[in-house]
Amino acid sequence: MISKKTIDEIFAAVKIEEVVADFVSLKKQGQSYVGICPFHDDRNPSMHVTPRLGIYKCFVCDAKGNAVKFLMEHEKISYPEALEYLAKKYSIPIEYDHQETSEEKELRSERESLYLVNEFAEKFFMDQLRNTEEGQLMGMTYFKERGFKDSTIDKFHLGYCPSGWDAFTKEALKQGYKEDFLIKLGLTRKAANGKLFDFYRGRVIFPIHNVLGKVIGFGGRVLKKDEKTAKYFNSPESEIYHKTETLYDIYLAKKEIRNKDNTILVEGYTDVISLFESGIENAVASSGTSLTEEQVKILSRQSKNITVLYDGDRAGIKASMRGIDMLLNQGLNVRVCLLPDGEDPDSFAKQHRDSEVAEYLERNTTDFLLFKARILSQDAGNDPTKRATMVMDVLKSIASVQDNITRAFYIKECAKLFDLPEETLNGELRRMVWKKINEQPKSNTPSTGGATQQVASPEEKTYVPQIDVQKNKQQKPALDMLYEAEKGVILLLLKYGLYEINVEVENPDGDGLVFMPKRIDQFVFDELYNDHIVLTNPLLSKIYDHYAEVAQILFDQDAIKRTFILSEDPEESKFAIENIEAEMPTYSKHWQERYDMVTISTMNSLMQLEQEVHNVILLLKLRIVEKQLEFLQNEMKKQDYTEEDTLNMMSRYTVLLKCRTEISSKLNMAVSK
Ligand code: ATP
Ligand code: MN
Repeated sequence: MISKKTIDEIFAAVKIEEVVADFVSLKKQGQSYVGICPFHDDRNPSMHVTPRLGIYKCFVCDAKGNAVKFLMEHEKISYPEALEYLAKKYSIPIEYDHQETSEEKELRSERESLYLVNEFAEKFFMDQLRNTEEGQLMGMTYFKERGFKDSTIDKFHLGYCPSGWDAFTKEALKQGYKEDFLIKLGLTRKAANGKLFDFYRGRVIFPIHNVLGKVIGFGGRVLKKDEKTAKYFNSPESEIYHKTETLYDIYLAKKEIRNKDNTILVEGYTDVISLFESGIENAVASSGTSLTEEQVKILSRQSKNITVLYDGDRAGIKASMRGIDMLLNQGLNVRVCLLPDGEDPDSFAKQHRDSEVAEYLERNTTDFLLFKARILSQDAGNDPTKRATMVMDVLKSIASVQDNITRAFYIKECAKLFDLPEETLNGELRRMVWKKINEQPKSNTPSTGGATQQVASPEEKTYVPQIDVQKNKQQKPALDMLYEAEKGVILLLLKYGLYEINVEVENPDGDGLVFMPKRIDQFVFDELYNDHIVLTNPLLSKIYDHYAEVAQILFDQDAIKRTFILSEDPEESKFAIENIEAEMPTYSKHWQERYDMVTISTMNSLMQLEQEVHNVILLLKLRIVEKQLEFLQNEMKKQDYTEEDTLNMMSRYTVLLKCRTEISSKLNMAVSK
């Protein structure tokens, strides 16, 4: 066990902002820091880190805690592992309460044992490469031929596994590591005759580390071209190595990725290392597999910008394009850089000076979508069928783009490139966007309230009411009801956010529902989050985020009002002055006028506030549903849908109608009580 003294030392040294910043890019805002919350599908920075209190807190998903908790949750590690990480980070020597007995060793969790075995193997291979004759002669010679510098070899912990039958396995067993674990990790294999042998014998070793820098697996490359055996051997999946969640070099690269706010994505170990030698330290590799969703998530926590570096060969490009639509789907900005024909990042970096590599990247990096459109267009030539497929393919990518204006820009560019009218492309795009919405989980229909909220999974898309690609000018209503409803939410927060109301929650001690006090702001955050609702008005959305930040530091509603009235942001301060300054600080009749409600007979004002909180949220949901209905109505009038799409729209329409009726009746019920 780690001694109490060490734990105290660790807690004394830890700076929460430094720990979180290892995984989330943070921006200073006053006394605290903000960043994209890694615990839910966050678009706006909702995670607040307060150095004074040593805590982080997300105002949307309610993740919160100290540095140790952050590491445990984020890295999915145990309490002692988190402490070890911090001790390493702050160079604090770990003292254990007493020497481990062999019994205690057995009791350690299997995961921990597996890490230890890998750690031993990494050290063994490193030592073999550097300190044995065979290592020098075979392994070191190979790395030198590849042009790797000593410092690089050390930095990446490269190694060598001797070519004998079982040198590694014998040593590991001698040191007390269990055969079972050696086999699980793929370091050792059992021959048909029962003899154990080294899986990587005679290969140079590329250790693979997780985000925390722990060795989780290995890649082993043969020294000579030999047709009988695979060029690379890799660790099998194990309890600590999940290929789909691993990015080679993420541990070393993440700092530079955050500095440059960009990740360079390449194919494998040697590409990463050669780029590193050329001074480009923000490259990672997906190692053999095409990019997975988990890898994309890991990347998007470090930076939203990705540059995919392609070999100059056509087949490869087209194969990997598919993975890239997923990057767009996750809201990442993707750019590509195509290397000259026949070159891969490794060979290119080798043959050019550092400055040339950097310059090439700068000059030849272009927007991914336009790049894709160009490549496909060239490939399709004049064949009409091929061209039609190509257009659909590109439109599918455009449909993945989150931002409306960017989408409009792409449509314009593609219309030129494909020589097609913009309207045609827009028509097709609308159909696709529609299809995508339809495929999304039903929870996009706002819930009509009630106590048992299902917790939304972070994968689900945020619901944005305005789904139409082009805003229809004539259709703009005189009074924007959605805006009014959103404004209602903001005013509720600014005026009463810190007050508590009683809400129904599931009984923590058993079944049924109980009433528990909850702060109004937290209730609002939860309601919006659970229904994937984001405020569409930019100013209101900005105030919403800003509120989330100040509400954790200020404990007085008037202080909150002052903050906004005196805000340095002129828009914010104007809004606050116009909307709250003139108001009485108490709960007042203004609600009725503002939310077109029937008069509520005056009761106990707290009860009234409680009711209004529900009303404000129901009203917002009602407006969103109405907006969707309006959108569908317009779409269904158009001629460019298939029968199937139209039917789908009609059934969706029916669902929304029902939803509207339900919400309205709740609102009426609320006011007539
Ligand atoms: P060569 O010297 O013949 O070019 P290489 O070691 O550079 O060999 P390539 O065949 O060029 O390997 O592969 C390109 C990249 O893909 C390299 O960075 C390599 O590490 C990686 N790679 C190739 N095959 C695998 C594999 N089976 N598993 C993991 N990574 C691989
Ligand atoms: Mn190569």
